[in-house]
Amino acid sequence: MLMNNSKFLPPVHIHPIVFFFIAVAIITGMFIDLLIIAFIVIIHELGHFYFAKKYNWKVKRIYLWIFGGVMETEESGLRPMKEEWIVTLAGPAQHLFLFFFFYFLGSIEWFPESAVNTAMQYNIFIFLGNLLPIYPLDGGRILHLICDNLFPFQTAHSLTIILSMISIVTFLTCALLIGNTSLSLCLLFGFLFWENRIEWTRRHYKWWKFILYRNSAAAHHYKKKSILKVSKEKRLIDILQKFYRNRYHFIQVIEDKGTVHTDLTETECMDIFFAKKNHRLTVGEIVNREEEVTYV
Ligand SMILES: [Zn+2]
Repeated sequence: MLMNNSKFLPPVHIHPIVFFFIAVAIITGMFIDLLIIAFIVIIHELGHFYFAKKYNWKVKRIYLWIFGGVMETEESGLRPMKEEWIVTLAGPAQHLFLFFFFYFLGSIEWFPESAVNTAMQYNIFIFLGNLLPIYPLDGGRILHLICDNLFPFQTAHSLTIILSMISIVTFLTCALLIGNTSLSLCLLFGFLFWENRIEWTRRHYKWWKFILYRNSAAAHHYKKKSILKVSKEKRLIDILQKFYRNRYHFIQVIEDKGTVHTDLTETECMDIFFAKKNHRLTVGEIVNREEEVTYV
């Protein structure tokens, strides 16, 4: 359900099941708890939103459902990593602000001490839960950014999903072993597992989006340079799949006799692949037949 469409605030969608839980909370006397959780989740999401807007990101919506919220954007994986670090960390950072806010409320004694203590506990619980290394939680997004630094985009994305799934199974097994599990916890991990399964099926689409954006962006502005050593049999598509998110690439083509060509750049590879639509060439053919090849 769409809750607003203002120019300054993002559209907020609420999953219909939330209204069922509101009804259950009223009946079971947990309405105050629900209000506190909703307040914490909204402040958390507004933290992400503030910095996303600061960097002119396109925010599709903030989506709220029973276990929290998520700010949906099409910019993830495309913008400079510094921006994504800040937007990602801005959510968890709100819990520090909320800690002092609840502490202040406790000190002025306007609210019952039990309500303030409950708010403090939920704040810590949501903060720590959100930092679990599981995509799309913030901890999973941090994991993704770390993987992006260490591996090519395609590998980093797949690895994040695999590690997220391993984390889900590990945490759920631990919870079951220590007997500290509940239906809502199983539902939460089930939902997260499903999200990762969907993300896995979208991995090729995500990579193409990344590489198309890279083709249109001024990639040569990346400060970090990287040299990719490849054999002459490698096709262009194999080279593109080795591209890191925040680096500009130079390609060294190794010939049979060990001769090394170093005059192929990322921009040239992109140009041959996209503008000249020559998808089947190997890098060996490019560096050896550069003069003869007609790119059609
Ligand atoms: Zn968040």
